[in-house]
Amino acid sequence: MYCQNCGKMQENGSAVCADCGAELIGKNDYGRNNKKSFWFALLSFVFPIAGFILYLIYEDRKPARAHSLIVGFVTGIIIKLLLIVILLVLWGVAINQLLNSSDLLFDSLL
Ligand SMILES: [Zn+2]
Repeated sequence: MYCQNCGKMQENGSAVCADCGAELIGKNDYGRNNKKSFWFALLSFVFPIAGFILYLIYEDRKPARAHSLIVGFVTGIIIKLLLIVILLVLWGVAINQLLNSSDLLFDSLL
């Protein structure tokens, strides 16, 4: 890539121009768009499949954004698993109470 200040060829991924010292961050893939993003984490949290696909896309080019995606993805999966466990427990308790009350009903009929 070329420095936008002096126009000289620079190594890809350098933060500043070796010739004039101008900032190069933001002009390549490792710059402006590569930062941790709450919105990407949230996207991945709500839509785990979309988040995981984006993670695969950004894994090499935007590691920080990919990190946000995987954090949202894992958090989303954990919370959904917890919700399922809680629902199963509540369901079990409800079934138990139903069985107990029908037992009482059955006993009172005898
Ligand atoms: Zn320069």
